Amino acid sequence: DYSLSEADPEIHTIINKEKNRQFRSLELIASENFTSRAVMEAVGSCLTNKYSEGLPGKRYYGGNEYIDELEVLCQERALAAFGLDGKKWGVNVQPLSGSPANFEVYTAVLNPHDRIMGLDLPHGGHLSHGFMTAKRRVSGTSIYFESMPYRLDESTGLVDYDMLEKTATLFRPKLIIAGASAYPRDFDYPRMRKIADSVGAFLMMDMAHISGLVSASVVANPFEYCDIVTTTTHKSLRGPRGGMIFFKKDPVLGVELESAINNAVFPGLQGGPHNHTIGGLAVCLKHAQSPEFKIYQNKVVSNCRALAKRLTELGYKLVSGGSDNHLVLVDLRPLGTDGARVEKILDLASITLNKNSVPGDKSALVPGGIRIGSPAMTTRGFGESEFVAIADFIHEGVQITLDAKKSVTGSKLQDFMKFVTSPSFPLMDRVLD
Ligand code: PLP
Repeated sequence: DYSLSEADPEIHTIINKEKNRQFRSLELIASENFTSRAVMEAVGSCLTNKYSEGLPGKRYYGGNEYIDELEVLCQERALAAFGLDGKKWGVNVQPLSGSPANFEVYTAVLNPHDRIMGLDLPHGGHLSHGFMTAKRRVSGTSIYFESMPYRLDESTGLVDYDMLEKTATLFRPKLIIAGASAYPRDFDYPRMRKIADSVGAFLMMDMAHISGLVSASVVANPFEYCDIVTTTTHKSLRGPRGGMIFFKKDPVLGVELESAINNAVFPGLQGGPHNHTIGGLAVCLKHAQSPEFKIYQNKVVSNCRALAKRLTELGYKLVSGGSDNHLVLVDLRPLGTDGARVEKILDLASITLNKNSVPGDKSALVPGGIRIGSPAMTTRGFGESEFVAIADFIHEGVQITLDAKKSVTGSKLQDFMKFVTSPSFPLMDRVLD
């Protein structure tokens, strides 16, 4: 029984290189985080060896006594972490990730070619909410269902609920999807509920990005208004890569969501659950009920606000003018540059973020903005003053892209590189060793 370094030095080396990259860089991708050592231990455990198709107590394989105990505990913790009453809400913790979770919901409540409405991808929505272009049905969701996206009001950067209402009245969707990958504000759930009710649609929230914030009650609570809530588990929630689907226990629009969703997960779209992930998720959901987690999520939001404020002081245009959550979306077009260039330059300085389309963009290949998130560096102990420094570093990178003559190595970025590699830079051994 060899260690990884003995059994496969090549993979061991690659993992170490990635660990070093994560250690050295400023991780600002809004959908990423650093999970705890305890979660990683569960994910790297013997739970990965076990097949357990079905649900606790109803498995298609023997030997599942402890796996049943694990999955039931994970379900209980999931409901507790979001303050849900087990008589009213149920949860499936088996989805392999966020996109499969969403497709499982569609499979459960829709027939092929039924109509859906989600936020358009170039306006901050996710692929799995039905993305298509004029030329191509890109996401499987738009291949199997008829998708009519709603969009932002480009003058405010906020969801255009009037347009959603008008379109829904004409299009008559069976499902309306709230939630986004790049939207710095809360959704107006009461308004969306009203619109869904007026056309007889299910209302689903994909809270993937903000599930940690929802759990800590630092943003609005989608469970008060939605029929179904999906999430990934590895973003602000800080768990292993995975997904969950929460559903109301009472029938909605004549559909028993519990059986429909459980059957869509298995045998509909998945086989055996990833029990090592469910183990890691259970650990993360225990963390999520601690006072420290609430403090952490509050810091995620206050750090993001500090970042937004500093960027505004430096003259940047932020989509919607600021942020209520864990991310900001910067519109670089007024400066005459784009997200692709800035992402590349910042990458050279170990500042990791992503280019992102902003409302009004013509090209998805060269989007006009960048998305910056606070969860990961908040996990590493950064506070508001460090996020102000991050804004200054990003500004420096933008200046470099604007001034092609200035060389990267000759700038303040050298000082920055010294900072991130110095011993005073917050260590990650808790998470990565
Ligand atoms: N939903 C939203 C809102 C997301 O932002 C993402 C991923 O970024 C997903 C779903 C999909 O998650 P996964 O990449 O785990 O399939």
